[in-house]
Amino acid sequence: MKKIPESSGKNEIDCGSCVSKGCTSCSTSNSNSENHDPTLFTRRNFGRTVLAASAGAFLAGCANPSKEAALVAKPDSLAAKASSDNAVVQLKKGPIMTTLAEFYKMGPGPSSSHTMGPMRITYDFFQRISKLPEEKLKQATSLKVHLFGSLSATGKGHGTDRASLAGLLGKSPAECPPQFLDELANNPDKAYKLTVGPASFNLTLKDVIFDATKGEFHHPNTMTCKLLAGTTVIYELEYYSVGGGFIEWKGYTAPEKGQPKYPFQHAKELKKYLIDDNIPLGKLLLENELSVSGKSEKEVWELLDQVTEVMLRGVDTGLMVESVLPGPIKLHSKAMAMQQMLKISNKGAAGKAITGVASYGFAMGEENARGHIIVTAPTAGSAGIIPAVLKSLRDLNTPVGKIREGFLAAAAIGYLCKHNATLSGAEGGCQAEVGVGSSMGAAMIAQALGEGPKVVSNAAESALQAHLGMTCDPVAGYVQVPCIERCAYGAVKSWTAYCIASEEVPEERRVDLDTTIAAMALTAREMNSKYKETSEGGLAVSVVLC
Ligand code: SF4
Repeated sequence: MKKIPESSGKNEIDCGSCVSKGCTSCSTSNSNSENHDPTLFTRRNFGRTVLAASAGAFLAGCANPSKEAALVAKPDSLAAKASSDNAVVQLKKGPIMTTLAEFYKMGPGPSSSHTMGPMRITYDFFQRISKLPEEKLKQATSLKVHLFGSLSATGKGHGTDRASLAGLLGKSPAECPPQFLDELANNPDKAYKLTVGPASFNLTLKDVIFDATKGEFHHPNTMTCKLLAGTTVIYELEYYSVGGGFIEWKGYTAPEKGQPKYPFQHAKELKKYLIDDNIPLGKLLLENELSVSGKSEKEVWELLDQVTEVMLRGVDTGLMVESVLPGPIKLHSKAMAMQQMLKISNKGAAGKAITGVASYGFAMGEENARGHIIVTAPTAGSAGIIPAVLKSLRDLNTPVGKIREGFLAAAAIGYLCKHNATLSGAEGGCQAEVGVGSSMGAAMIAQALGEGPKVVSNAAESALQAHLGMTCDPVAGYVQVPCIERCAYGAVKSWTAYCIASEEVPEERRVDLDTTIAAMALTAREMNSKYKETSEGGLAVSVVLC
């Protein structure tokens, strides 16, 4: 549909993370989104499914609602709809051009398009107005944000308004403290003073307006930001949250990228550089990043160190909080209790290790559900896996340099999956989100612990293989069940895959990474649409909320 820019954190990467009601955000997010828009189908039908499922629960008296709900919730027209129109893989090919800033994006969960994107938009607007001439700013009396289309239809459930207000108030999406986001949500009428140059005025959540849900919008997720003097608009810009946390605006043109020093599309070409030419993986990936992004080495390390910090802060915060997560499921968080139980556990070494890693995955997944700051890796729904892997590597005192290399290796796996299959639950089911996240985690562990390229690749292959066919069926359309628990499993499977790959004879592995990525793409194409973020099948219609 659209070209994806780079400077705004854009690219061709997808959202894949947002499944809340009515959301159409992922429509531009995927590698092949030019000819496939599964989320429009998804969101349109979601409300119907929930209503039908609720009716099933009512009829069943909630005693054993699963069967009845599933029957009632299955619209005939969708019963066996195969996604034959799902292209999954990009039609146009070339070397992988994704950059780290495009891949590891920081901002509030639970939706990269409906929460992270809007906050990045209003923060961008805040920065723009901060640079306006003083004479103009002197006239300013207020700021207004208008949400349109899907952002208006589903923004309340996603926390779009509080994320937008936080950005307007000058809070950086990567650094905003979770307490501030909670405060905004808990005090809807509270006024916050904003000072921009000589201008100073109050802002509240009411300054973020849920406007028209239907209309001829340039994009389903359209926003306008206005600086006003009374009722006169002094400065205005129309923005689009195009999926995956990426933003565009009216008149946007994507900046040019450089060519990668070591071009590759598949793991086999990458392995040729690594094994035949003996180029270390970390060096190759860094040099590609430098040549494509135009960043300096210092800037690349700063970015990865910030990603590390945000992830660790998220895990640590999640381990200290016990709460009922937002939304209709009334899901109780588990991370803190799991950590506390570890201290008195008699589960033995295996039980303790698994509980520890799983608790980290829960911690970050729960933080995402709370709408706190996360890093897409590869998506928001799967954002608990890499932080759990990272935290467990830190527990082993893994040096910073090795952690950075691990992030590069993880990104390379994500790039390969994105380029040759998909990273979107709406296109490929959960194998594309949690499956890829777990595969990235396995590569990260292997690289950080000093394994060679064959083990890194085999570990990634093993973890991805273990998730092939996994469906996306979030209950009530919230990124909670099964997403959070799957993040915990994904991280544990990263370790399992690493353990397998590092103990076997690498040359004896019979399946290579490219083959498994191709299998994921094939499975994605053939997967019934009910299991692709539509909340039309599986757990979504089996669990009934009373
Ligand atoms: S089930 Fe998996 S793919 Fe679907 S929203 Fe949850 S984490 Fe994402």
